[in-house]
Amino acid sequence: MRVEFRFCPACGQRLTPRELEGRSLPACPDCEFVAWPDPKVAVALVAHDHGRVLVIRRGIQPGRGEWALPGGYLDASESPQEGARRECLEETHCDVEVEGLACIYHTRVEGGGLLVLAYSGHLVGGEAAPTEEAPELRWFEADRVPELIFSSHREALETWRASRQGAL
Ligand SMILES: [Zn+2]
Repeated sequence: MRVEFRFCPACGQRLTPRELEGRSLPACPDCEFVAWPDPKVAVALVAHDHGRVLVIRRGIQPGRGEWALPGGYLDASESPQEGARRECLEETHCDVEVEGLACIYHTRVEGGGLLVLAYSGHLVGGEAAPTEEAPELRWFEADRVPELIFSSHREALETWRASRQGAL
């Protein structure tokens, strides 16, 4: 859900429409604040260990009960690599060293856009254990991963698999 600003979060003044770059955006008449419609940013991780990939069954919406990669929304204070590692640790108790970007995925959602930064990384510690966000999790052989609910996760997995085959 997108939050619609009606008052300036900096000074409290009521926002009024302002023409900017050919469109009307809510802006503060008293200070510099403009409610630019930034996308939401999420991260996902292809966590792998000896050719197997860590997949979770989601415990929360969206996609509750479906298979997915570990991931979630990025916090403003962390880098996307830190966010991917944190989400994986929180959801699965597996600690992963992030290697590199698997893909950047963009989609339009109601009220704006969603940008998913998907990384790959290998297991360096911890042991997979169920959590509220991931009540079931399993390591699958890379070519036996079940259908993932999010197209961003499917693309990340495909890209990672392709890059891995290229490296052999
Ligand atoms: Zn203001």
